[in-house]
Amino acid sequence: MKHVCVIGAGVVGSATAMALAREGFQVTLVDAADRPGQGASRANGAQLSYSYVEPLATPAALRQLPGWLLSRDSPLSWQPRWQLSHWCWLAAFIRACTQARVQQTTEALLRLSFLSRDVLARWQREAPAEQPLGVQVRQAGKLVIHRDAGKRDAAQRQVAWQARFGCRQRVLDAEACRRQEPALAHDRAPIAFGIWTPDEAVTDAQQLSQALATASGARWRMDTRVAGFVQRDGRVHALRCVDAGRPDREREIEADAFVVSAGPGAAALLQPLGVQLPIEPIKGYSVSLQVANAARAPQVSVTDAARKLVYARLGERVRIAGFAELRGADLRIDPRRIQAMLQAATDTFPGAFQTGDPEPWAGLRPSTPSSRPLIGATRIGGLWLNTGHGALGLTLACGSAWLLSQLMQDRTPSIDAAPFSLAG
Ligand SMILES: Cc1cc2nc3c(=O)[nH]c(=O)nc-3n(C[C@H](O)[C@H](O)[C@H](O)COP(=O)(O)OP(=O)(O)OC[C@H]3O[C@@H](n4cnc5c(N)ncnc54)[C@H](O)[C@@H]3O)c2cc1C
Repeated sequence: MKHVCVIGAGVVGSATAMALAREGFQVTLVDAADRPGQGASRANGAQLSYSYVEPLATPAALRQLPGWLLSRDSPLSWQPRWQLSHWCWLAAFIRACTQARVQQTTEALLRLSFLSRDVLARWQREAPAEQPLGVQVRQAGKLVIHRDAGKRDAAQRQVAWQARFGCRQRVLDAEACRRQEPALAHDRAPIAFGIWTPDEAVTDAQQLSQALATASGARWRMDTRVAGFVQRDGRVHALRCVDAGRPDREREIEADAFVVSAGPGAAALLQPLGVQLPIEPIKGYSVSLQVANAARAPQVSVTDAARKLVYARLGERVRIAGFAELRGADLRIDPRRIQAMLQAATDTFPGAFQTGDPEPWAGLRPSTPSSRPLIGATRIGGLWLNTGHGALGLTLACGSAWLLSQLMQDRTPSIDAAPFSLAG
């Protein structure tokens, strides 16, 4: 049996461990944190956003960019860094902002997201009765509310175009939006229209990471930072690792193959090998609010398109997430972002939440310029990638993992794997 070592126990690495274990590989899961799901997967937006996979790089984003960058309160901010890789990433991002590229990427990501939905459902269904997967996936449906009536025609066209690929979506007027989510009745800002997608779901990414890492039966090596690779005859042969609390001592972990799922840490890890990954960390924030009045809190997933914020009901809490900051690997929490989310939550769902302990969190989306993840072989023997899932890692994790497990066995999966190569 082949031994594969997966670096990174976020939602993508944990799903990779699961997919490989199901194919009969012996798997070791290595992470610098003390348990799975402590990086970008910790407190993200919780959206299994199967029909909302449009890339970040679009012609509209390019047009809005100057305004966003100049405004203090804009959902997007950028701090230039004097690093060649940063400017190469930006140039590739701008090149990706064409309608043709957006359509190709959206189509490819829709195939991957639907595959992900099927793979997760299969894993849940096939889990042994005495050991269920241990994660709650709720088909909440998603309502995207728009405040600007001028966007309706474009939204309608997008819904019609996506229907060709199997997305079930409806355009609703303001009244129908409030019927779909009665908690919006108290929203202080007018709603122009909404898009309702009944098939969308929510789940807690940290819980899913933990559940998959456990169900995989992989050997865990937590508190273990990968410092580098040992190569022999053009192949990676082992990892050089440092245990937390023992920074002075390095040890090696050998395996037949290695998968890098180190999220925002992947590019730095592979740079010494001469493998340049086009991944930039894009920071986002979340708060998790205790529900104070159940009738006033949303049950369905709500996206406020104007504020670029998502709301997901997770039991007695609502997770609110958003913002995109291109400022390197800086995880500091800007209190103005937290305040903006609390204000938006209070305006949209007045009286719904306790805001005293908002559990502020920031995470780094491992983002490629085109929003396509990097799934497949590198030019170094034994070294594989499953990373760069950007704003959609939770949504795409299970399909990406299955896809990689097939590629690692020289199988041509039924889904066209080409769009997910390093060329992205
Ligand atoms: C605010 C916000 C909201 C989001 N909302 C959603 C959403 O609603 N839906 C969705 O689909 N996606 C969402 N995302 C995106 C999603 O969270 C990410 O795409 C996903 O978590 C990436 O998972 P990952 O496993 O690749 O990375 P991570 O979860 O970051 O895992 C990488 C792991 O690698 C480990 N690691 C890194 N370097 C090393 C090393 N050298 N040695 C050992 N271990 C290492 C880290 O400790 C970490 O645990 C959101 C992201 C943010 C920030």
